Amino acid sequence: MNYHVLTLFPEMVQQGLNTSIIGRAMDKGLITIDAINIRDYSKDKHKRVDDYPYGGGAGMVMQAEPVYLAYKDVQERIKSAQSSEQSQGKPRVVYVTPQGQLFNQKLAEELAKEDDLIILCGHYEGIDERVLEMIVTDYISIGDYVLTGGELPAMVMIDAISRLIPGVLNNDSSAQFESLQDNLLEYPQYTRPEIFMDRKVPDVLLSGHHANIEKWRRQQSLLRTLKNRPDLLKEANLTEEDRKFLNQL
Ligand code: SAM
Repeated sequence: MNYHVLTLFPEMVQQGLNTSIIGRAMDKGLITIDAINIRDYSKDKHKRVDDYPYGGGAGMVMQAEPVYLAYKDVQERIKSAQSSEQSQGKPRVVYVTPQGQLFNQKLAEELAKEDDLIILCGHYEGIDERVLEMIVTDYISIGDYVLTGGELPAMVMIDAISRLIPGVLNNDSSAQFESLQDNLLEYPQYTRPEIFMDRKVPDVLLSGHHANIEKWRRQQSLLRTLKNRPDLLKEANLTEEDRKFLNQL
């Protein structure tokens, strides 16, 4: 996966994703993150990229032209990289915005299938609507709150998407059952020691009885989801046994 992040703060994106699992994924060549400075495409002699909003109001708005030129440049780069391989068509362009559809695990899984993803980060009061209409394919929000810029949302998305790309996690199965997969929250996890400040690991996990462990974990998942996110249960793929368990609570 090649991410192309259009931003006014490229160093924030590069540095923020440079460590741990995502950093190693970059080292292994499983993902690339190209952070493009929109300011480099300003034709203004002071490299200005924002201006006052038409109609008045607080704050500044990012101008259409530098965003458009940055996008065209990235599009060309992707095209020339693809021409040596097979042409993949136009990449999706995500504008991160509090006005978009909510980002979730399902959307991360969908986006993980792309070869290239362009992520556009806004700042100030946002971006001139005309360029958004011209280039954006997806409007995505990371939650119902307003941040100062799109860099953190872009980083959140890159992290969530990248860990679904084969080879990024050491053990591929660790992405297979975890919270929000199948609309259930993950069961509680424990590691050594067996007793920590008088609190013991549940006996079943020490039993070595795989069927019982699976059953216990499934029930814990159901219990947690019911308690913390009952809204998810409506969409979950429940078996007859799951329903029986929930009904007897
Ligand atoms: N005036 C805009 C509005 O009301 O929709 C908000 C602009 S916000 C201060 C600046 C930028 O931060 C946005 O253009 C967007 O890229 C990013 N942003 C802020 N909150 C976000 C969220 N919850 N999800 C995704 N991006 C967000």
